[in-house]
Amino acid sequence: MNPWQIAIIIFCVIMSAFFSATETAFSSFNKIRVKGLAEKGNKKAVLVLKLSDNYDKLISTILIGNNIVNLLASSMATLMFVELLTEPLNNNQDLISLISTLVLTVVILTFGEISPKTVAKKRPEGFTLFAAPLINFFVIIFTPISFLFRALQNLLNKMFKKDDEQGMTEDELISIIEEAEEEGDIDKEESTLIKSAIEFNDLEVGDIYTPRIDITAVPFNATRADVVEIFSESGYSRIPVYEGDLDNIVGILYYKDFYNRKFAKLDEIIKPVIYVAKSQKINELLKELQNKQLHLAVVMDEYGSTAGIVTLEDILEEIVGEIWDEHDEKIEEFKEVGEKEYIATGKANLSKVLDSLDIEPEEEPDVLTVNGWAMTELGKIPEEGDEFESFGLHVKVLKMDGRRVENIHITDVRPTSDEDEDTSEDENDKKEKEALEN
Ligand code: ATP
Repeated sequence: MNPWQIAIIIFCVIMSAFFSATETAFSSFNKIRVKGLAEKGNKKAVLVLKLSDNYDKLISTILIGNNIVNLLASSMATLMFVELLTEPLNNNQDLISLISTLVLTVVILTFGEISPKTVAKKRPEGFTLFAAPLINFFVIIFTPISFLFRALQNLLNKMFKKDDEQGMTEDELISIIEEAEEEGDIDKEESTLIKSAIEFNDLEVGDIYTPRIDITAVPFNATRADVVEIFSESGYSRIPVYEGDLDNIVGILYYKDFYNRKFAKLDEIIKPVIYVAKSQKINELLKELQNKQLHLAVVMDEYGSTAGIVTLEDILEEIVGEIWDEHDEKIEEFKEVGEKEYIATGKANLSKVLDSLDIEPEEEPDVLTVNGWAMTELGKIPEEGDEFESFGLHVKVLKMDGRRVENIHITDVRPTSDEDEDTSEDENDKKEKEALEN
């Protein structure tokens, strides 16, 4: 047996393992993590990012390298087996090449493909950093060959171009962020902030406004004493001024203007109103409010009546979460009060409540608030003690505030995954018992 042949075969299998592991590592490494290292000055990480930016070239190089070493190994193995087995197998060349092919296939599959890929999949970032310099060397020397392959690849891509080719979807981006959070690359607050910013563009005024029933406003003919009282009782800095009723808001009265210009009449100091539809995107409204240097807009319903108001704070809360002003009474809209038991206020946003309970309804609910939910489920104005089941939750109305739900009690009665298994086991036991009895 020629020791050179064995050495070459071992070398080829090692290189095959290297190429296979590199392919797996580069296709599954966490770019965010490597970017972090690159920013800290890690040169190998910079190289990894450069290589992965030219992924097609990298993959062509890996395929070329892998094929060269696999073919070389199999030719060497055939030569070696011919030398070894020609005499014992009476020069049966077919059998010799069959044995050589079988042995080498097993060796290459085990040591050159499966094992290295499994190892690289476990620590892809570490492996990309290790492999980067050598694979970069191959990328350079195989450039002429991979150029030809890539030209062919481009031609095929053009011939079989997918019509619906698109970039990363919002859902994909959100799952990357959730993955980064699970892996500890970013913390919960950062992840929530980024996710809110991504989802921000989808929100409409109708999702966030303060409803008409909660508006604190003053009639145009209110006395100065009335206005002073309303400002001090409500604590709001801006108050809509209406003529007749709330459907006719004529301006917004600012606290500062009211006190700075003590002798002015209301119509001299009120600021113009802007009206928005419930369906207006909040990112557009944010721009509009910023451009016009206003804080508050009046929300109209489809009949042209006042549906509510929306302020800059309502918009910003969608990115940074609840903001409590010094005069706000801190009310938790949804809180856990026991195992699988929760209390929610009637004003709480239903989608957010469902989100906190990890419930993803097939269709977005038609109503915005918990109060609206109770009304539609019960088909009437709720009363204290009313109960209903929805989304796998048992809900009881605890307290009413006039005709509005003040708060409800929620019991999560969805079976847990363990209970699911138990139930299916019980059902299986039952079926077995029935079969035996029959
Ligand atoms: P600021 O913080 O500038 O003093 P503010 O506390 O009066 O203002 P915002 O911070 O803009 O008001 O809004 C806080 C919440 O109060 C928002 O949900 C907003 O819709 C609501 N809000 C603001 N003004 C009124 C009002 N006049 N009537 C009812 N709700 C209001």
